[in-house]
Amino acid sequence: MLYDSLRAKRDFEMSYSYADIVLPLAQPAYCYAIAEGAELREGDAVAVQFGVRHIYTGIVWRLHNEPPRVKRVKTVGRRLYDVPLVGAQQRRYWEWLAEYYMCTLGEVMRMALPSLIKPRGASEVEFSTAEFSPRTEPYIALRAEWREGEVLQAECERICRRAPRRAELLRTIAAFDESKRNSLGEVPRRLLECDAAQIAALRKAGYITVEERERRVERDNSVAFVLPTLSDEQRRVKEEIASSEKNVHLLHGVTGSGKTEIYMHFIAETLSRGGDVLLLVPEIALTAQLIERMERVFGSRVTAYHSRLTALRRTESYMRLAHSEGGELVVGARSALFLPLKRLQLVVVDEEHDSSYKQSDTAPRYQGRDCAVVLASMFGARTILGSATPSLESYANAQWGKYGYSRLEERYGSSRQPRIIISDTMRSVKRGERKSHFNVQLLNVMHDALERGEQVMLFQNRRGFTPFVQCSGCGWTMRCPHCNVTLTMHRKSNRMECHYCGYVADVPHHCPQCETADLKPMGFGTERVEEAVAELFPEARVARLDRDTSTSESAYNRIVRDFESGATDILVGTQMITKGFDFSRVSVVGVLNADNLICSPDFRSSERAFQLLTQVAGRAGRRETEGVVVVQTSETEHPLLGWVLRGDYEAMARSELQERHAFSYPPYSHLFMFTLRHENLSLLRRGAMWFADSLRAKFGGRVFGPVAPSVDRIRGVYIQRLMLKIENGRSLARARELLREVLRDAAAHEEYKPITITTDVDAQ
Ligand code: ADP
Ligand code: ZN
Ligand code: ZN
Repeated sequence: MLYDSLRAKRDFEMSYSYADIVLPLAQPAYCYAIAEGAELREGDAVAVQFGVRHIYTGIVWRLHNEPPRVKRVKTVGRRLYDVPLVGAQQRRYWEWLAEYYMCTLGEVMRMALPSLIKPRGASEVEFSTAEFSPRTEPYIALRAEWREGEVLQAECERICRRAPRRAELLRTIAAFDESKRNSLGEVPRRLLECDAAQIAALRKAGYITVEERERRVERDNSVAFVLPTLSDEQRRVKEEIASSEKNVHLLHGVTGSGKTEIYMHFIAETLSRGGDVLLLVPEIALTAQLIERMERVFGSRVTAYHSRLTALRRTESYMRLAHSEGGELVVGARSALFLPLKRLQLVVVDEEHDSSYKQSDTAPRYQGRDCAVVLASMFGARTILGSATPSLESYANAQWGKYGYSRLEERYGSSRQPRIIISDTMRSVKRGERKSHFNVQLLNVMHDALERGEQVMLFQNRRGFTPFVQCSGCGWTMRCPHCNVTLTMHRKSNRMECHYCGYVADVPHHCPQCETADLKPMGFGTERVEEAVAELFPEARVARLDRDTSTSESAYNRIVRDFESGATDILVGTQMITKGFDFSRVSVVGVLNADNLICSPDFRSSERAFQLLTQVAGRAGRRETEGVVVVQTSETEHPLLGWVLRGDYEAMARSELQERHAFSYPPYSHLFMFTLRHENLSLLRRGAMWFADSLRAKFGGRVFGPVAPSVDRIRGVYIQRLMLKIENGRSLARARELLREVLRDAAAHEEYKPITITTDVDAQ
């Protein structure tokens, strides 16, 4: 903060001739000349011409006096905002990101700044129209001559008979609560209960002034936080964290142990000191409930920030924080890591194990949890990583003494750990104890729970009706013409759908190969489960939560609210239902098929399955009711289920870490994943072989592949993958250097340069 303003002052006083500007493109920073007399600071947003026909928003990265080698240098355009958009720490953080995740600063910029803040255009006119202008609203004040209490009083009495409503309104304005006025003492019009005509009349009669001003959410700092009283165990852990000399602390606490309450205490302390807090949550799905809980304690201090908010809301939040002097609580998804907080003192990463912290689809392909730790360390802030099932990376860091570690073993209050039943699907089939997708064991506990007026959640990790339809004559399956996958049948829309590219087709009646009409639905998704439940429990009200039913935020919220209020009895869903929800009336959770979770070839699959099953189980019996979790599987002897059953995270971690160590997987190494794409399969294959050879020349046996992923064609483009493993203790910086050489060669290669190569550092 102080540093920033001193620096800005220095920037203004020194005169520089050039500025390196970062543009929102996959390009390096470009050097521009600074016009005589223009005042620029590092971190400022400016309008700059790029190419002949583009005006972009750029960020002033570095001011200097070194003339560039090119002859003609363009001049920086006007400055866009009164504050620097990207502060000094944020700039260091962007630089770290670009280096670590091997992308350009421009790519970081593209993602870090909300779209409206960085207008662009083909001309100055187009640029200006795209520019962000804050929403305004009318603010009202009494004119100077009426501010004297007695004068106004007398006037009100005078007009009272003729215009009672007018007098009333004047009195209201005069007596308006100080804390709700703006810094000029004006009252926001929206807080007055009156219509526009009344205001206009008062103004015309000369009583008031009306000014359009930027709409600012006034923050009420006077409210004292009412914090939950911690239990003895919670207090012990809080003290452990507070007194730890480690800056990063892993809080390993079972679901319902009250990690959130512990966060609240640290948050309150930080805010009271005027520090900023960043509370990260994995997905928007989760944020709603948590934001509400935070608002109950911290009121208007809370700023929500995630991708489902409108661009305008995000931009307003960004601008407001850029002006803020501290004491902010941001609750958000990983994108909140880029907000311009200047006094960051605490970062909390809730559900730190969640894989959605990793951005995989576009550059920078960053891991939000790791970034949180790095960002916090740049500010000298404390980081708390919370989870009921920590990632093995964080757990190993705690074991190696890099992170502090605390364990909360008990649920808060009277709620107990749920009872977990492993239900053998094969045996149920043999004994005739299976109906549709349910073992009788699960049906019985569901029945009892519904009888008692309690709720049930059913988890199935596939959406749609059936993942494919197959011809019973020749084995034909209907596949996507653009992707190498089968089409999923959706019953409600009565369509076949590709879950990779969105292609839809009619449900086939005949097999096109052998003309047989006997097409069998194979496997089952949430939609089919929902249908089966409705048949088995005709009295129950059933709802489904998955990508298909929650296409909008309001649809999503309605489903969650209905279940929360008890308007629905059974909720069927995908991963979406497993996370963080706190529904007090749920006493039964059913996992319909755990087999595909347990038996997946990915090296993280055991860790993931353990996390998922434990999280799902955590939804049961959050209050007085004892929870029951039924896991249906034919792999009853799998050791993983034993660990889940006993809640034995340590055993899972020990076994998994041993394996990871033996094969040098993370956390014992870093993975670089390369994805190569091209429409021409034979070109792609040759290019991938060439790329593999080039990598092997530098990294030898650390290179694996190329291989075709399980879905090796999407939207008509073929895909090949390669992996590079760099063991701990080896220099990552050196590895990146070598890698850049190979990637440069590939980009310049006569034949293979049309192949798109993306690099994913610390791939999941
Ligand atoms: P976690 O975040 O570890 O899953 P929560 O913070 O959601 O656990 O706590 C589980 C439940 O217990 C919540 O409903 C919460 O309100 C309640 N709870 C936990 N600790 C306290 C406390 N100290 N005082 C009051 N309620 C608490
Ligand atoms: Zn057929
Ligand atoms: Zn497709």
